[in-house]
Formats: sequence, C-alpha cells, structure tokens
Amino acid sequence: MDEKLLEEIKKKLIEKKNEILQTIEKEEAEEISEVESDSVIGDIVDEANNIYELQVMSKLTEKEQEKLQEINEALKRIEEGTYGICVVCGKPIEEKRLLAIPEAKKCVKCKAAEEKMRIG
Ligand SMILES: [Zn+2]
Repeated sequence: MDEKLLEEIKKKLIEKKNEILQTIEKEEAEEISEVESDSVIGDIVDEANNIYELQVMSKLTEKEQEKLQEINEALKRIEEGTYGICVVCGKPIEEKRLLAIPEAKKCVKCKAAEEKMRIG
C-alpha cells in the first residue's frame, strides 16, 4: 500500500480515537477526578495511569469501546504491516473503503456476506 495513503489513514485513526476519548474527558473528567481522589490508590501510584484509563474505558458505551478497540487493532496492523488486508479472504481491502472506514478489517464482499448471515 502507498505509504502516503497509509500515513493519512493512520492520522484518521488517531483522530477518531481522540474524538472518542475527548467525549469522555469533557463530560466525565470531573467525575473521574473525584473518584480518583476518593479511592484508595495509595501505594499503586505507578499504576495511576492505568486506573485512569480503566475509568475512562468504563465511561464509554459498549459501542464506543468496540470502536476504540477496532481503532487500536487497526493501528497495530499498520505497525505490523498487515493493514489493509481482509482478515477473512486475505485480499486487499479497497482503498476507498479504507479511507471512509479506516478501522475496516474486512473487504466489502466479506462484510456484505457477514451482514447477510447476521440478518438471515
Ligand atoms: Zn474479504
């Protein structure tokens, strides 16, 4: 895949990820900081970042969590050099599709087949 295109997709993924996280930070930041100061974190200060992340995650809806995971997986696939390959048939995913849905891991054909199965 074109490196420039890959770079653009990576940017899109990071933007999407930030968008999801920012929704939470705006709405729930106060609540989270309250929880953090009230809870007995004590000697596990080193893990505070993880706790914060867990708290952020717990504020997300199931759908947002799913999306976030898809984005993380896509970013991982970029790192591994397997991005843009359909996980079902192993064929390259259409570039147009990747630009529209950068976290896509299935080609149009396989996605359509999956949805058909789900409905039927
Ligand atoms: Zn496929």
